Amino acid sequence: MSISVAIIGAGPSGFYAAEALIRAGLDCRIDFIEALPSPFGLIRSGVAPDHQNIKAVVRAYERTAEDDHVAYYGNVKVGEDISLEQLRRFYDAVVVATGAPFDRSLDIPGGDLPGVYGSAAFVGWYNGHPDHQDLEPSLDSEQVCVIGQGNVALDIGRVLVKTADEMAGSDLPEYAARTIHGAKIRLVTLFGRRGPAEAKFTNSELKELFKLSDCVPRLDPAVIPDRPPDDLDERGRRAKARNLDSFRGFAAVDKPQAAKVLRFEFFAMPVEVLGEKRVTGVRFERTRLEQGRAVGTGEFFVYACGTVVAAIGTRAKPLDGLPFDKRRGVVINCKGRVAEGLYVVGWAKRGPIGVIGTNKSDADTLPALLDEDLSNKRKPGRGALEAWLTEQRTRWISYEDWQAINATEIDAAEGEAPRKKLYRIKDMLAVLGRDAQSARQASHDHGA
Ligand code: NAP
Repeated sequence: MSISVAIIGAGPSGFYAAEALIRAGLDCRIDFIEALPSPFGLIRSGVAPDHQNIKAVVRAYERTAEDDHVAYYGNVKVGEDISLEQLRRFYDAVVVATGAPFDRSLDIPGGDLPGVYGSAAFVGWYNGHPDHQDLEPSLDSEQVCVIGQGNVALDIGRVLVKTADEMAGSDLPEYAARTIHGAKIRLVTLFGRRGPAEAKFTNSELKELFKLSDCVPRLDPAVIPDRPPDDLDERGRRAKARNLDSFRGFAAVDKPQAAKVLRFEFFAMPVEVLGEKRVTGVRFERTRLEQGRAVGTGEFFVYACGTVVAAIGTRAKPLDGLPFDKRRGVVINCKGRVAEGLYVVGWAKRGPIGVIGTNKSDADTLPALLDEDLSNKRKPGRGALEAWLTEQRTRWISYEDWQAINATEIDAAEGEAPRKKLYRIKDMLAVLGRDAQSARQASHDHGA
């Protein structure tokens, strides 16, 4: 009898886990359990809408989803529709691949004022994530503050300064396009508590800013060091040197007619969000580096703005029955093993570090862990899951259901857009044109 594997979460780390198990030639049946109707996690809801080239990785995931070993159960929330404990009773192996979807909070006075948003919520909003589509961020002032200097901060800055024409080939939902392109934003500043050599941007993302049609990147050239820090390895030094070159290039860009500015402000640590009923500005303390760490200099300044987006990292999702490191925001594990028959991969294991492909290495170690742990006794797997969900009247989405939703989105696309995203769960379910669950209930009752 095949090994039954449940993968919780159908994002990149879940797909790489499934692919690794199939590639290892394991006799297994793999079931994805995904909270949303739609698969692909961060690729659909995290990667920026104008980065369609990155989103193209889903073609590989689609091949995995269509493999005979694999089934998809979307719209099933672990912790609500079924518990982790039940899944462990039903499946030989349960793999947690739920990513790091929760924002780290900006732990300073005023950090929870209206007008302050976490990057996961903000990015989810402009990507049509069902949990965030109703965020309605206020973008009604000329200056926006983005805290953090990683790729997420850069994505947010770029999406806010691109014109409607530049976003035409994206899948930015129309409600977000209306808000962003109707806003009176003139200046978006990305604040880093350390310097240009410490900023975490990757260079291909930085270089995109040279091509902006109506925005100019700016920074104070005096803060750009001549060369990267000596304590990096050769690869790290080369990557940082490329970034420093790009920063020098920004300082030389001459585009006087540009309506917007995307500014990088270094050595600035946020200490207080100002405002009474809503944000009016952020107070920063100037910093200097001591052994690579930012320390305050006692000099302060205020940046006036009506919107703050904190792009300072995210945390994994705790689940009942899963040991959790609250400080780091990750699932406690030993090289991917949480307990016998329970594993974790991707950002839930490592934290939000690395690019999409980095998740492959977690997945590669999974077949060996299963091999070490599993006896010859087999659990019922898929049959038990379907019986449970049917009994609970949980309206799960099969992969064929998702393909119908996907085709509807693609058919509805206008102009150069690749799709018109459905961003409410009820609209996704409505596409199916029938009560999917009662149809399944009937077939189950008839022993099909
Ligand atoms: P990140 O790369 O870790 O950047 C987080 C930023 O927030 C850093 O500048 C960090 O500064 C700053 N920060 C953290 N806590 C802070 C605080 N309390 N006050 C002020 N600043 C603070 O995280 P990310 O941007 O969320 O990206 C997550 C991962 O996704 C990264 O590996 C990234 O490369 C990847 N990603 C890739 C792409 C792409 O390839 N196109 C796009 C998006 C995301 P310090 O450095 O001083 O800690």
